[in-house]
Amino acid sequence: MEMQDVNTERFYAFERAARAMFEPSDPQDLELGACIDLIQRVFTATRHPQHPVAYSGSHWENVAERASCTLTDLDGPMFVIGLPPKRRRPWAALHEAAHALTWHDGHGPLFAMTCIELWVMFGRWNRDALTDLAQEFGVGSKSATSHAIV
Ligand SMILES: [Zn+2]
Repeated sequence: MEMQDVNTERFYAFERAARAMFEPSDPQDLELGACIDLIQRVFTATRHPQHPVAYSGSHWENVAERASCTLTDLDGPMFVIGLPPKRRRPWAALHEAAHALTWHDGHGPLFAMTCIELWVMFGRWNRDALTDLAQEFGVGSKSATSHAIV
């Protein structure tokens, strides 16, 4: 069984609070194609990632309720972003795009800052409220990193 690191637990808690704050009470699921368009707009705007990206509706069948971003290396490195039906929402697509942009950071501070930026730019979530919330949950800052090393 895999243990989740402190950054991951902290980020998930922050993300739940952010969704409660910003998601409509009756959120509409997107089509997979709309999620792909959104992620492609992120990559175009940020000129990333350098590796090609493939999309999967139900990558990792056994945890199909989870969205995912994995780096495969078959015919060269390629990201595979999995967005099962329950995760076809802008915040989830942007979360996975942020992983591709900050691959080596896990759910660390760089990832968190990037994800917040994408939620603001592409999801129209409020920057000030997100920044306050991030501080409250201890994500996205250098202090979050030092607290994680225990
Ligand atoms: Zn993640």
